[in-house]
Amino acid sequence: MMGVRFGPAGIPIETPGEGTAAGIEYCRKIGLSAMEVEFVHGVNMKEGKARAAGEAAGKNNVKLSCHAPYYINCCAKEEGKLRASVRYIVSTAQAAFWLGASPIVIHTGHYMGRAPEECKKLVYRTYEQCLEEMRALGIRGVVLGAELTGKKSAYGSLDDIIDLAQHFGLERLMPVIDYAHYHAREGKLKIKDDYARILEKMEDGLGSKAAKTFHCHFSGIEFSDKGERNHLPVSADSPPFAPLAAAWKERGWEGTVICESPLIEKDALVLQKAFQKVRA
Ligand SMILES: [Zn+2]
Repeated sequence: MMGVRFGPAGIPIETPGEGTAAGIEYCRKIGLSAMEVEFVHGVNMKEGKARAAGEAAGKNNVKLSCHAPYYINCCAKEEGKLRASVRYIVSTAQAAFWLGASPIVIHTGHYMGRAPEECKKLVYRTYEQCLEEMRALGIRGVVLGAELTGKKSAYGSLDDIIDLAQHFGLERLMPVIDYAHYHAREGKLKIKDDYARILEKMEDGLGSKAAKTFHCHFSGIEFSDKGERNHLPVSADSPPFAPLAAAWKERGWEGTVICESPLIEKDALVLQKAFQKVRA
């Protein structure tokens, strides 16, 4: 059975003990079946530790993904920044390979005053370089996850990330919808139809596989007219989760939901419970 898995963005706050493997075991203990390993401030995981955490994930049936560092800009104007971005992405992919994790979630970059079309070719080239280096290193089974970003100045609108997945193919790059970011960036998500339009666009652009293996982020969010300010607990109900769960149920969507609220594991459980209620 596939279904929908829920998990925290990072090691659960109340994990007894320390480290990724302990966090995975705690996820299982409280009834979660996914966890995103956060490398947002840099990739610092050694092979032995990563493989041990990957084993714990297998044993506990917890599906792992990773989040790449924040410092990436795949359409930077300087060659040095592009090279650094490739390095961050490939080192995240290496850790993910040892962990048995996929996708690696990436904030693609910043327009920096340029039109999305102008940035696109540079983004294609940078991601292509990442995929080539990953291939050369023998990294298999790790998909790049282009996140829907929360600021209007950031590369990563719904159109941007669907285009990237079309360009590379879902087996190499998948879109990662962050519904809170969409809410902050594109306008308010309120009712089921608001969510259904996003799902329909994904299915139209990428086919039914996008519906059966999705990876997404969810949380509450505070925002201004420029986009996101900060993530909030799910209880903020902005955006609301129940209409999304209903849209998933209606269209038979299956995949993984990572909770990025400040209450990473407690709210993952809240979302899971809400989903089960809608599904029942
Ligand atoms: Zn993110």
